[in-house]
Amino acid sequence: MSATVIDGKAFAAKVRGQVAEHVTRLKDKHEITPGLAVVLVGEDPASQVYVRSKGKMTVEVGMKSVEHKLDADTSEADLLAVIDKLNNDASIHGILVQLPLPGHLNEDLVINSIDPAKDVDGFHISNVGLLGTGQKSMVPCTPLGCLMMLRDHHGSLSGMDAVVIGRSNIVGKPMAQLLLGDSCTVTIAHSRTKDLPEVVKRADIVVAAVGRPEMVPGDWIKPGATVIDVGINRLDAPEKGEGKTRLVGDVEYDSCAAVAGAISPVPGGVGPMTIACLLANTLTACCRANGLEEPAGLTA
Ligand code: NDP
Repeated sequence: MSATVIDGKAFAAKVRGQVAEHVTRLKDKHEITPGLAVVLVGEDPASQVYVRSKGKMTVEVGMKSVEHKLDADTSEADLLAVIDKLNNDASIHGILVQLPLPGHLNEDLVINSIDPAKDVDGFHISNVGLLGTGQKSMVPCTPLGCLMMLRDHHGSLSGMDAVVIGRSNIVGKPMAQLLLGDSCTVTIAHSRTKDLPEVVKRADIVVAAVGRPEMVPGDWIKPGATVIDVGINRLDAPEKGEGKTRLVGDVEYDSCAAVAGAISPVPGGVGPMTIACLLANTLTACCRANGLEEPAGLTA
């Protein structure tokens, strides 16, 4: 068997296209432009790349993009003042504080100071609680992207056995909640799980969010299962030249693709969906703020 490749790059382009169409309609019919503000503290090179690419794609779908770049030694009070200003800015519908923050800043405090209605990362404690109780919330972008890919591939997920490997607050736990919301039977595995291969082997859906390069081999996968690889791991690639690296996921792609029914690659799988879902969340937040109908298919 050779798995169907779930092309996250193409799917993300389609989602961004749908967002752009909605934005055009909002502008034409209601004279509203959705606005996304990204706050970056410090000069972490990877965060700078993410923020640049988020800003570029925000503009490409017709939204307003605002960036606040603050010095690495910015005080908590000054950061909270920036967030407070954005909370009260009616032209801003989504606020994202790029993580990780420098060590002297309390991440929980900062995230929970964002207006939950503008919390497009879905990390505010109110949104976590709303998702956990099956209520309308802002949903974290990476798990939302995985859910969209799974729904697109399968239609209904009802009754399927899903195993999520990883229990982080940003990926594993919200992913499990979303799958439960779609009526999967969900197991959350983690570093203390006993006999992980057997646990994974009973899954119709495997979502790997571990952060360990190529940890899941093909012989853990039930024939025909769907494998979603969230992992982003950079490995040295001397074969490509000195100092070069390559990206791999948390699953061993070739051996898993030989057994699975469908698989998302790395790169080109979940990664592009994350930014597409950030834009979808900003659109959703804008529609909610203005009492307008939410775009179908772009939320959980
Ligand atoms: P965390 O480090 O926060 O969580 C990793 C989880 O994996 C933990 O729950 C940990 O268990 C579990 N784990 C670690 N080792 C094992 C093991 N040997 N067996 C089973 N479980 C194990 O990572 P994140 O959730 O933040 O990210 C996971 C991966 O996803 C990373 O590669 C990250 O780069 C990627 N990522 C990709 C995104 C994208 O846009 N595509 C976005 C966000 C993350 P325990 O709790 O017991 O320690």
